[in-house]
Amino acid sequence: MRLILVGPPGAGKGTQAAALVQRLNVPHLSTGDMLRAAVAQGTELGKKADEFMKAGGLVTDDLVIPIVVERIRESDCAAGFLLDGFPRTRPQAEALDRAMQAAGVSLDAVVVIEVPDELIVERITGRRMDPETGAIYHLKFNPPPEEIAGRLQHRQDDTEEACRARLQKYHSETAPIIPYYDQQGLLRRIDGVGDPQRIAENLFAALGLDA
Ligand code: AMP
Repeated sequence: MRLILVGPPGAGKGTQAAALVQRLNVPHLSTGDMLRAAVAQGTELGKKADEFMKAGGLVTDDLVIPIVVERIRESDCAAGFLLDGFPRTRPQAEALDRAMQAAGVSLDAVVVIEVPDELIVERITGRRMDPETGAIYHLKFNPPPEEIAGRLQHRQDDTEEACRARLQKYHSETAPIIPYYDQQGLLRRIDGVGDPQRIAENLFAALGLDA
């Protein structure tokens, strides 16, 4: 299955992506994770991306598109993939279409996880990540076990200011891809408020998968 997961920052894309890739046994392609790895490794791409990311802005299309176009050509993507955080602009969506057409494959569905803005800031500012396992916790909604609390990291773009900038970008740049996929009959809307387990069940059902 070839899927895209769309949603505002803090919608639970990472959590739902983890459940989906386990169920489907396809690679999880998160452009946010790829860019953070490039920043941590200090690559040329990472140096260019860092400033945009810190400020809560979008990394430019000319930097992000080639990463994904190359990644989906790799052999582990032959049977499918889950894209998380890409496309985030209309030109990215069109570039992905062209790359998939050239490869003779097509998308199965685009899932949008919907969460009202007022919930997003609370979710994002309390979010913490375990650098050893990649697990995501929330200081209030999903507190980490005490023994790992000391090693948790707060993403530099999870401050309130950067979060509001990312939300604004989501509405101005990313939301326009929703009608684009709706017109192609690929869109599945999922309510992202509530218990992550129940949201996963709704998501699986929307894709015609058993829980
Ligand atoms: P995420 O982990 O998906 O929230 O992404 C973190 C940050 O990485 C975003 O706020 C952007 O600065 C950057 N980023 C991730 N994916 C993209 C993309 N598809 N286009 C542009 N910037 C991106």
